[in-house]
Amino acid sequence: MAVGQMCLIRPGERLREGMTCPRCHAAEMTYDGMLNLVCPNCGLTEAGACT
Ligand SMILES: [Zn+2]
Repeated sequence: MAVGQMCLIRPGERLREGMTCPRCHAAEMTYDGMLNLVCPNCGLTEAGACT
């Protein structure tokens, strides 16, 4: 059965500007034009966290 997309960010784990990306560990989180934190390397965003 379909499970849907996996959570990429554990509950309670908050992204912060300048922190190392918790997914790819290859870049630092930065704000995009919509004030969402995004990883410029792998595209991880805080908006993609499970709600
Ligand atoms: Zn990343």
